[in-house]
Amino acid sequence: MSRDISKEELTPFIKGDGLSGLAKALLLQQKSTWQQLKKGYDSLKGAEIKIFNFNGFQLKAQFNKERILSASAKVDKASIKNRKCFLCEKNLPLEQKGIKFNDNYLILANPFPIFNEHFTIASLKHQPQRIGSHFEEMLLLTKELGDSFVVFYNGPASGASAPDHLHFQAGNLGFLPLDYEKEKLLKKNIFPLKTIEESRIFYSKKYLRNFILLESNSFRQSVQLFNEIMEILSLINPHEDETMLNIIAYYRNDVWQVFLFPREKHRPDFYFLEEPERIIFSPAAVDFGGVCIFPREADFDRITKVLLTKAFAQVTITQSKYERLLNMLK
Ligand SMILES: [Zn+2]
Repeated sequence: MSRDISKEELTPFIKGDGLSGLAKALLLQQKSTWQQLKKGYDSLKGAEIKIFNFNGFQLKAQFNKERILSASAKVDKASIKNRKCFLCEKNLPLEQKGIKFNDNYLILANPFPIFNEHFTIASLKHQPQRIGSHFEEMLLLTKELGDSFVVFYNGPASGASAPDHLHFQAGNLGFLPLDYEKEKLLKKNIFPLKTIEESRIFYSKKYLRNFILLESNSFRQSVQLFNEIMEILSLINPHEDETMLNIIAYYRNDVWQVFLFPREKHRPDFYFLEEPERIIFSPAAVDFGGVCIFPREADFDRITKVLLTKAFAQVTITQSKYERLLNMLK
């Protein structure tokens, strides 16, 4: 059964233009017809936030109990095989509808929101979560949604709770510190690495998270540079599924701005401690973008700058691998 929302259902909710306007309308329609989604957003309204100030940048912590399933998801192959895929069209809740994108994706409202407007963009085909050639689709999606949303990707071993079903996510702009930190961090935490025609590559320093930032107004060159970076990463930081990474992408003033966060580990050491030492913090793109999600109140209460610094040092790519990457990219 196709989950395409009909024009009649969507039209009364449309206020804005383009694909973002349709996505916003979908969210309103779904809140009015789908109880579980409404509950997710009601719960988000009361979500507590803590702000940690570092030298020139911020990290936020969000207490969000609805995220427990995602944060503690078992993503090993056996567990994945034994559950029904929640992104396949045939398994979606009856009330859930979506908007087609590019004929091969469905834009869906995420019932466990972190953002005030949070979407999952799921492939219509059940196929593994791999960025590879789908990076091109991510760029197109970012261009379509960029006036209102940031688009992100979690690798199969880097926080995706459906490593068996290709998907992206999108959230409203202005929420992740990364959305607005770049300009002010230039030459302090973000430095240019090289320029190639219309494209520029930057790297980070003392930002807790090692990243590569790719800026370009050329689709072709973005893809080419991305492939080059992925090739190097697969060499210096191989993983059986795909080199570990999270991607956060923007499209502003006709320029793609793509942050690549190569990863060393899926979860920090304190995630695996016995209770009561255990802290459930399972970082993915949103956390790397500066909003750290804690599904348990006790963990949210206990989290400190020191613990966050330790956690990111463990899950971001090691300094030595990062330097190799930068040297090979130069
Ligand atoms: Zn599926």
